[in-house]
Amino acid sequence: MGKVGGPRPFWERPLESLNREEWEALCDGCGQCCTHKLEDADTGDIFHTNVACKLLDLKTARCADYRNRLDHVPDCLRLTLRNVPGISWLPETCAYRLRADDKPLHDWHYLISGDRDAVRAAGVAVIGKVISEVDAGPIEQHAILPEGYEAMLDEDDDDRDGDAYPNGDD
Ligand code: SF4
Repeated sequence: MGKVGGPRPFWERPLESLNREEWEALCDGCGQCCTHKLEDADTGDIFHTNVACKLLDLKTARCADYRNRLDHVPDCLRLTLRNVPGISWLPETCAYRLRADDKPLHDWHYLISGDRDAVRAAGVAVIGKVISEVDAGPIEQHAILPEGYEAMLDEDDDDRDGDAYPNGDD
């Protein structure tokens, strides 16, 4: 009798068991980690933007020079076994986040579906949703604020106005 089952595919194995090639192949190609983030200096809150790294190919959501990306963008973050769990802004759909949490990949992941374009069809890829930093201008104008945050900022501004002129004098 033949053996039932076989070795688990690498995307179902613990991250620490993956070789370099398998690790790289885990990426779903969504491009979400290739957009710039802003950090509120007071609160440490992280805000996403719709501005992509200059190396991101906006039509494919792939890095235009992945192998040599650090030559062009020295602070490009390299995901590792050690840093993935601590990166709060990685999307919940990110294959590395899912596997670090011992969750399965989504059905649309190309390793499951066999379709590299399924990430776009699932609405997860940044294709059509971002602009390049080359064209964006001041990045602060591109923050994607959570619902209600703008109102909170307005209230803070009002409070600051009040503090500046506590007696109504100017
Ligand atoms: S967010 Fe995760 S899955 Fe998406 S491109 Fe970045 S590393 Fe790959």
